[in-house]
Parts: sequence; structure tokens; C-alpha cells
Amino acid sequence: MATTSPSDDELVAAVKVVRDAHPALGIVKLWGQLKADRPEWAVSEKRFRKALSSVGGSDGVASSSTATAKPKKNELVALTGLDATLDITAVAPKVKAKMFGGTKGKGVVAKAKIQAGEVLWQEEPWIACPDPGFKPHLASRRLCANCLTQWESTPPMAVACPSCADAHFCNRLCLSRARPHASHHELLCEGANPAAREINSLVTAREWRSLDVAARIIAKWRGERAWGEPGAAEAVEKRVWGGIARVNMETREAEKADWPTRKDFTTRQWQLGHAAIVAALNPAPEAKTHKRFTQLLQSKAKGRKLAPLSPEEEARWFSYESFLELLGLVNINLEDSGGLYAVHAHLNHSCDPNVQVRNLPRGWVPPAEDKLPTELPERNPPGVRGTNKLTILARRTIHPGDECTISYVDLAFPRDVRRQALRDGYGFWCECVRCVRERVEEEKEAARKATARAAVARAMANHEEAKKNAVDELAHKVDELAVDDML
Ligand SMILES: [Zn+2]
Ligand SMILES: [Zn+2]
Ligand SMILES: [Zn+2]
Repeated sequence: MATTSPSDDELVAAVKVVRDAHPALGIVKLWGQLKADRPEWAVSEKRFRKALSSVGGSDGVASSSTATAKPKKNELVALTGLDATLDITAVAPKVKAKMFGGTKGKGVVAKAKIQAGEVLWQEEPWIACPDPGFKPHLASRRLCANCLTQWESTPPMAVACPSCADAHFCNRLCLSRARPHASHHELLCEGANPAAREINSLVTAREWRSLDVAARIIAKWRGERAWGEPGAAEAVEKRVWGGIARVNMETREAEKADWPTRKDFTTRQWQLGHAAIVAALNPAPEAKTHKRFTQLLQSKAKGRKLAPLSPEEEARWFSYESFLELLGLVNINLEDSGGLYAVHAHLNHSCDPNVQVRNLPRGWVPPAEDKLPTELPERNPPGVRGTNKLTILARRTIHPGDECTISYVDLAFPRDVRRQALRDGYGFWCECVRCVRERVEEEKEAARKATARAAVARAMANHEEAKKNAVDELAHKVDELAVDDML
């Protein structure tokens, strides 16, 4: 193949793509990857190193597996770690969590063969949160505020929240589970804590679900710290700030082309959201809401003396910076159907995923082992909403060592649209097997078209040449005839 030398701009752009797609590779392997991606280019190692250092890739390219290093400038890297509070094997015996390192972070890898249609695991939300679109159902007693089961009419065993008229539960069990899931935590119930109203009205008016979930995470920690078992608040702290992946929301948004036009408005919204959370969950001593909030905390403390928050706790949970990180955490981990899930949050994306995530109707039974492999469950019948329990199923055979992947975007989108959506929403350029295969196909197709165009151009040129020769020949004959006539 004839090789060409790319311009500096072309090279730097391509080096950045390779670096983002293969964060764990060292310089020489990255150079090899560029050669594989761009076989038509001639690029020396020296030139490659120069381009790599210009995109900030000469240090920390082969980064450590803890992945808690500070992100490089202009690069969106989620901070993540293995969740020390989670025993994945207890939930999902055939898989394990693995740290890949670099920008990829962690993922789920099969430990044993998993057959098509097999259930990898099922899990309840760690933080349950309905879509704001469901709020009218909650208010009209057609949705359980904990498990999010939708009812035709209120079930006979249903119970209402003891402190407000806005929340109903399937039964006492759902009410008792509401606190650990923080789905209707006492601290966010407007009846028990009127200062929570401002959060709820922002969530409803702006359909701002990530604010709702962020508030529930903080309320969960605050509740565990005041009333929980020993170690419960520390477990929430470890999961949020050391386990589940997060990015700073402002860093993420500032990357987008339209950010300058949105910056003022969006920043104002964030400030309002942050102020509402502080007023409801950590009011300053001089704030109007302080006395009522302190009484609420103390009233359920069973005589335990509650220590004030330390400066570190204040900064960790209630600073504006932490708020932006929590919003970013919610945005990259939220499962539309039900909230945040501890194991599910480990699953990485592929445009050809081997795993499917479902909210199946209550009463669905996993296939027996002797029925495997089998088809995936059919779509839920119209009008039947699944519960917020997730079921993770294999779409095809998964072998030990394979990474288990789901799709974060609509798989029907073309490659460029998928990749841009993933970059905008999750901060990475997808280089999955399907994306690479489709790029090779597109390049082959482009090359085939270029060859065909060249062939047509050649044929046209030949045709012109032949026509010109024929005309010349004819003219020559005419000249001869004219000479004959003269003789
Ligand atoms: Zn309530
Ligand atoms: Zn329920
Ligand atoms: Zn892809």
C-alpha cells in the first residue's frame, strides 16, 4: 500500500483518538495501534511521541490500576475504584469485578461459562428513585414510592407514609424498605422535614431527576450517620467517594460546544439545587430550618447524642464541589427504570453487548438450568410496568474471562451517532469490536468507491483518447482522399 504522511493536525487528532481508546497501552503499543488503525500513514516513532506529548499523553499513559489519579487536562476521566462494601459473588456467583485501569476503570468479567438466556444476577436498587414523570402517579396513589410498582387501583394492603400524603407503599414491607433504599427517607419527606419541599419542587418543575437522586444519596448518608448501625454511614461514604464512578458535572458539561451559551443559566440551576440540599439536609445554625431539622434528627436517635458534622464531613457531603461530583455520579450511573444499582453500575458499554438489563413484571421466574440455553424474556405486555428490581440476562454464551457489557445508547444508531452520544454522555470514544468492524467496513467501502471512481475516470480518459485517435485517423483519411482528388 502506498503510504502518505499525515499533517500535524491530522496526526494529533488521530493520536488523541488512539490514546483515549487505549488508555492502558504504553507508548510503543499505542504507536503500533495507530499503525494498525491508519495503515496508509507513514509516521515515525519520534513523530508519534511528539504528537502524543502534545495531547498530554506522554506521562501516565500506562496508568495504574487504582484509577484514582487526577484526570489529565481536557480529558474526561471518571474517578472510580472497587467498591469495598460490595460482595459481588454473593449477588452474582458467576462474575467478578475487575479493575482495568486507565480511563476504562472497572468492569464485570465472567468467572464461569454463562449460557444464553441465563440470569447473571438480580438486584434491588441501592437508591430507588422514580422518573419525575411518575410523580402524578405517586400523588394519586397509583405507584409504590419504594418498589415503584404501578397499580391499577391502590392495593388492599397499601399503607401511606405516616408523615405526608404524597407517598404510598404496597404494604408494610415496602414502607420498611423505603428507608434503606432512601426512596422515601424520613429526611426527604415534606411532612417530616418541610425544608425538603424546595428540593422536590425543583425536581418536579425542572424534571431534574439527578438532583432527586443526589439528595437521596446525601439523605441516606445523613440518616445512617444519625440512626444507622455502626459502620453504616462509613459504608455509604466508601461506596460514593471510593467505589462508584463519578465525574465533576461542570467538567463534563464544559466540554460541550454549546457550553458558553448555557453556562450562566446552568450554573444558576446548580447553585439553586445545592442551596436546596444544604437547607434541607444540613441547615446552618442561623437558618430558619435548623431547629426543626435538628429536632427531627434527634427524635429518631433513640437517646443517642448526635455529634455535629466535622469540617471534613461538611466539605465531603455539602460543598458545592461535592454536589457537582454527585450530579456527575448520578448522570453516568443512573438506570432509567429505577435508580442506582450497586453491581449494575460496574457494567461497561459495548455496541454489541452480551448482556441485557430488564425490569421484569412481578412474579417472573428465571429459567431452570436444564432449560438453558433459551430465548430472552419477551417484552413486558403493554401497560405492564416491571418492578424496579433489575434482572441481568445473557444475550448469548459468555465464556470465562469475557467482559460482560450492556449498551448505554440505542444500538440502532449509526456508528458516528453512537460514538458522539457516548462521548457526550459518558466521556469516552467507543472503540468496541462493533465500532472497529464498522469503521473498517466504512473505510473499505470508501476505498472501493474511490477505486470505482478512479476506474470510471480512467475509462472516460481512455474513451476520450480513443475518440481523439478516431477523429485524427478520420482527418488523416480525409487528407489522403483530398490529396487523391487533387491528383
Ligand atoms: Zn412522607
Ligand atoms: Zn412496593
Ligand atoms: Zn462501540
